[in-house]
Amino acid sequence: MLVTFLGTAASEGYPNAFCACGNCREARSLGGSSLRKRSSALIDGELLIDLGPDLMAAAQIHATPLDRIRYCLQTHHHEDHLDPAHFLSRSAYCGVTTAPVLEFYASSPSLARIAAALQRHAPDGALTGPEAEQKLNVRIRQVASGQTFEVGPYRVTSIAATHAPEAMLFLIEREGRRLFYATDTGPLAEDAWRMLAAASGPIHAVALDHTFGDGERSTGHLNADQFIEQVTRMRAMGLLAGDARVYAHHLAHHSNPSHPALTRRATARGYDVAYDGLSVLV
Ligand SMILES: [Zn+2]
Ligand SMILES: [Zn+2]
Ligand SMILES: [Zn+2]
Repeated sequence: MLVTFLGTAASEGYPNAFCACGNCREARSLGGSSLRKRSSALIDGELLIDLGPDLMAAAQIHATPLDRIRYCLQTHHHEDHLDPAHFLSRSAYCGVTTAPVLEFYASSPSLARIAAALQRHAPDGALTGPEAEQKLNVRIRQVASGQTFEVGPYRVTSIAATHAPEAMLFLIEREGRRLFYATDTGPLAEDAWRMLAAASGPIHAVALDHTFGDGERSTGHLNADQFIEQVTRMRAMGLLAGDARVYAHHLAHHSNPSHPALTRRATARGYDVAYDGLSVLV
């Protein structure tokens, strides 16, 4: 799988346009990998994780058009991961007639938020009616955590995040290679560990929440110490392949330094830091 990070920031982007803290000022002056858009990722050009608010900018900046996406896995309904207006942007409403039908896998709260946002565009006031699905060029697949399902050539296991109601993490497998996409989340619950242990085969790459970096410990996100604790347990349980790569993801400006400084720290502690536009072969 070719995994491209389209955005790697926490909720408001990094630098936060409204902020003059030291981290934001340094990121502005450094540019490049220190500039982070809201989190989402693209796999093989056809599977999107999160219909996030910065997708248009990401596709332009990183030359990664989204005209071939056929599947989308939605982690949760928070605004920094879900912009329902994109359904219109890729439909005939915006003059797009070439996009494949999008199979959209999401939880009940995500679908409720989309239905409310698109009410005036969906003929029956809902997203799931055949007429609405046709108009928006989408097929809705409601999923919840604790399921394993086929998504085209991918086998996906949805695992409960420790974050928001019905928020999900995704273990994504294709041809024996596995990515664990794990944001947004705090320390994993025992049920999540049980599901990971039950999944077949080692994980080759992990993109894990690092929102609070050098900040306080949290229940709904991870700081650097909690991040390492999760990875240590993954290794202790034998979940990771010997050469697995672990990426810090979903980085907040108030708790993580600019990319070069964070990378130096992370390297010393045995992990990598994702950045916008990074493509990795998993
Ligand atoms: Zn988030
Ligand atoms: Zn700031
Ligand atoms: Zn969230």
